[in-house]
Amino acid sequence: MGLAIPIETSARHIHMCQKDFEILFGEGRALTYKAELSQPGQYVCEERITVTGPKGTFENVAILGPFRPETQLEISMTDSRKLGIPGMIRQSGDTEGTPGCTLTGPNGTLEIDHGVIVAKRHIHMTPVQAMQLNVKDNDDVFVITESYERSLIFADVVVRVSPKFALAMHVDTDEANAFASDSTPSGVILKLFSGNTYNLQKWAEEIQSGIHRL
Ligand SMILES: [Zn+2]
Repeated sequence: MGLAIPIETSARHIHMCQKDFEILFGEGRALTYKAELSQPGQYVCEERITVTGPKGTFENVAILGPFRPETQLEISMTDSRKLGIPGMIRQSGDTEGTPGCTLTGPNGTLEIDHGVIVAKRHIHMTPVQAMQLNVKDNDDVFVITESYERSLIFADVVVRVSPKFALAMHVDTDEANAFASDSTPSGVILKLFSGNTYNLQKWAEEIQSGIHRL
């Protein structure tokens, strides 16, 4: 219940399928490992790409390995405004109906017609940790952050459980700046509504119509 969860900030990055990567970097080219990430088997690559939308461009966007079945660009809401494409909040892998953009590498350019998401904030954990925290895969939870002068309770934080995960909450740069996080921020799951999940939008509507529950 009181288990501190490290909060990690994901800057804009892309996951790529091998086919798309080879279009941008050349046939037969492979990802080059640069640095390990907190989730086992996940890493940052040496390769970088340029991302372009109707209104703007980002250079040096990091590629995260290994290859995935589908290319997926993860940006913040602020990034989406700069690129000029709608920011759609989705869980990783849920890209149907999302906007596309233009990707450029040293060997070529590629238009993707979907795959740009603003990642829904989430917590990775193992099945044992889920038991300790009394939550299950796909639960939406509240997380209270540790911060100086700008603490925040995040709602709608989705729990992701897998034996392949390590305990970490992932937020984007907008969310990290919102609670002015220090170098090693952490948070704790806050059990409201007797520990049951509850939809924050519904809660807000109830309060506005005079119903108070906690
Ligand atoms: Zn994550």
